[in-house]
Amino acid sequence: MSQNVFLIMNRCLGCEECVEACKRENGTALCFVDSYHGVPVPFRCAHCKDAPCEKVCPSEAIEIKDDIVLIDAEKCIGCRSC
Ligand code: SF4
Ligand code: SF4
Ligand code: SF4
Repeated sequence: MSQNVFLIMNRCLGCEECVEACKRENGTALCFVDSYHGVPVPFRCAHCKDAPCEKVCPSEAIEIKDDIVLIDAEKCIGCRSC
């Protein structure tokens, strides 16, 4: 079953603890924190239906299982196409 995560953007401190937690859980980060005019902006994988990232991955590192988009860190070559 997929779950939704709602972010309260104006409370984000940009600490990237969520990115580290994601790496620990998944073996690779499915999220990142960007910055817009000095304001931290966290981004999360939305686990899209028919995920476009899966189609562009050159190393077949992305797999969809039970509506969850998974990245195999062993297969990922870090090309950032996704
Ligand atoms: S970077 Fe992530 S963990 Fe840190 S405050 Fe923002 S949302 Fe929370
Ligand atoms: S395109 Fe892929 S990585 Fe981007 S939000 Fe959708 S499922 Fe997540
Ligand atoms: S960075 Fe490249 S190789 Fe890794 S999951 Fe994304 S598209 Fe695939």
